[in-house]
Amino acid sequence: MTETIPTQPREGALVHGMYRDGEEIADRKAPKAPIDQMWTKRKFDAKLVNPANRRKLSVIIVGTGLAGAAAAATMGEAGYNVKAFYYQDSARRAHSIAAQGGINAAKNYNDDGDSIYRLFYDTVKGGDYRSRETNVYRLAEVSANIIDQCVAQGVPFAREYGGLLDNRSFGGVQVARTFYAAGQTGQQLLIGAYQALERQVAKGSVTQYQRHEMLELIVVDGRARGIVARDMVTGEIQTHLADAVVLASGGYGNVFFLSTNAMGCNVTATWRAHRKGAYFGNPCYTQIHPTCIPVSGDHQSKLTLMSESLRNDGRIWVPKRAEDCDKDPREIAEEDRDYYLERIYPAFGNLVPRDIASRQAKNMCDEGRGVGPMVGDFRRGVYLDFADAIARLGRAAIEEKYGNLFDMYARITGENPYEVPMRIYPAVHYTMGGLWVDYDLQTSITGLYAAGEANFSDHGANRLGASSLMQCLADGYFVLPNTIRDYLAGGPFDKITEDHPDVVAAKQSVQERIDTLLGINGERSVDSFHRELGHIMWEYCGMERTEEGLLKAIDLIRALRAEFWRNVRVLGGADTLNQSLEKAGRVADFLELGELMCIDALHRRESCGGHFRAESQTEDGEALRHDDEFFYVAAWEFGGTPTGGDTGTPVLHKEPLVYQAIELKQRSYK
Ligand SMILES: Cc1cc2nc3c(=O)[nH]c(=O)nc-3n(C[C@H](O)[C@H](O)[C@H](O)COP(=O)(O)OP(=O)(O)OC[C@H]3O[C@@H](n4cnc5c(N)ncnc54)[C@H](O)[C@@H]3O)c2cc1C
Repeated sequence: MTETIPTQPREGALVHGMYRDGEEIADRKAPKAPIDQMWTKRKFDAKLVNPANRRKLSVIIVGTGLAGAAAAATMGEAGYNVKAFYYQDSARRAHSIAAQGGINAAKNYNDDGDSIYRLFYDTVKGGDYRSRETNVYRLAEVSANIIDQCVAQGVPFAREYGGLLDNRSFGGVQVARTFYAAGQTGQQLLIGAYQALERQVAKGSVTQYQRHEMLELIVVDGRARGIVARDMVTGEIQTHLADAVVLASGGYGNVFFLSTNAMGCNVTATWRAHRKGAYFGNPCYTQIHPTCIPVSGDHQSKLTLMSESLRNDGRIWVPKRAEDCDKDPREIAEEDRDYYLERIYPAFGNLVPRDIASRQAKNMCDEGRGVGPMVGDFRRGVYLDFADAIARLGRAAIEEKYGNLFDMYARITGENPYEVPMRIYPAVHYTMGGLWVDYDLQTSITGLYAAGEANFSDHGANRLGASSLMQCLADGYFVLPNTIRDYLAGGPFDKITEDHPDVVAAKQSVQERIDTLLGINGERSVDSFHRELGHIMWEYCGMERTEEGLLKAIDLIRALRAEFWRNVRVLGGADTLNQSLEKAGRVADFLELGELMCIDALHRRESCGGHFRAESQTEDGEALRHDDEFFYVAAWEFGGTPTGGDTGTPVLHKEPLVYQAIELKQRSYK
């Protein structure tokens, strides 16, 4: 277990009738050293495992997106026995493939004043001073290595005419440090990681388990020792044992039902670990991305991102007068347009961070100046206009930079964005929260690690664009392989077998849950529960949160969860491919997570980044933090019984943040 500071009683009084205060916790893995020497020292201090012993050690990695594939390839190359699990039919289909815009690195190729320190500073500030300084510094430090690694793998990053790697800008920064491959950066990076992974598969150091879904974590004597997985094709429930387990299972934005995430993204792997003792960090921190194709009605099950890179050249505006909102935008005169981001934030203009751009788009629509068709009694859209850029650079230049994004927009909306401004609106996109990890990426369960979007680690209350790919590959290629060896050096651990009582119990709990889901035989589809949960989350735990709304949401979620277990209808059987069953398990976990997100949002009575509490804002409507009260990571311990259907009363462990290199300030982009 993580070391804890016993300053408070284990069981505090019930707060708000919702949760209990627990002991404070701290990260004890970041060494005592100046911030720019910490990572070097940690790598040196972490124990080594000699090559002959690595063959005797086994690691399970759940997920082969950028974080998991990079970790599996690197650990395999080092000589460990790796088992890699994923639910798609190919590792190449992980959600990471959807990433469009780019990946940050402090290379300073443009000589525009960038540095490791500036990337570190921008990321901490962008996260509204709610991330851990030590982790973010390391992220900035290894960022340049990532680009070198990927170039060596053959990732076709965009290049300038002279052959040098090209860069563009993303929100929240004033330098150009984003490396990209047209509008398909994630796909190209994933192909690089996938090739590295397949090389290890061919060598025999990595075994892949495609179409296998982890449904439970196996913990023996306080250590993570394996997983229970379902073969999604045959329905067989299997146990897999190892010396350590890594979860690189991605984010949980689909708790909102509608999001830009791939349809399969879910919380099950991390939630099952949470139920077994892994703390969940900052679950309420959700990123709402400002440039998505607006919702067009009730029929949708998916939203589409238009990459943030478009904000490099596109200008965002709404009509100054509400009566102009249903006019053809090309007929609205320049003086009748409100380029509101350029007006309110002259220093950063259209490149303000995502949380700010999203909130301002909502404000414009709330004022009645939204554009596009009425959805309900609202127009939910603002213009993203390329007319100026096309006039300045020519259509061919815009086509070269963003052609695939423009084509995608045209295909989905039936409008030609070269001629008519795009319409965009914020949508759920990324979750900064995730499993709590220390500097080594170890969770509060010994031997269980979390990497990539699955952990809470680096983005505080708001992630800057292009920094998730950076974190995933930093975790997978550089951080985890160095830190996990410190743990594995203590192994091989006691051999356990499939008939160990804890293994048997974990497997049995999975079987019972499946039987229960199939046996309810109710009247409502799994999807209808998911859609209703998403609606509650978006209304009350979305872009703006209030105490009243969150209390209401918690009641609604509890009632919905009770109905789910009484009235869900899961078609088909257990021993075959069954998407209805897969979804049911995931939605059941979302129904528990959703409640914890609302409790976390309720307890944090401040606004910061993606968490905007209406009760806490400055006079001009900006987020108002309360550093005196909330300068900590909220790490939640599961309060119920690990195998039952109850969620109990969660326990809040605060990890006070300690800043040595950066001065706390109210964030300003004006
Ligand atoms: C449309 C879009 C565009 C984006 N563009 C950018 C961008 O330009 N730049 C940027 O930095 N970020 C971007 N992001 C964010 C970024 O893509 C993701 O945060 C990142 O790819 C997550 O990678 P990951 O490795 O953590 O997880 P994922 O890629 O989500 O992979 C998760 C893996 O876990 C497996 N898995 C999950 N649960 C289980 C289970 N229970 N059992 C077995 N396997 C499981 C899956 O099969 C998969 O292999 C974008 C996101 C979206 C939605």
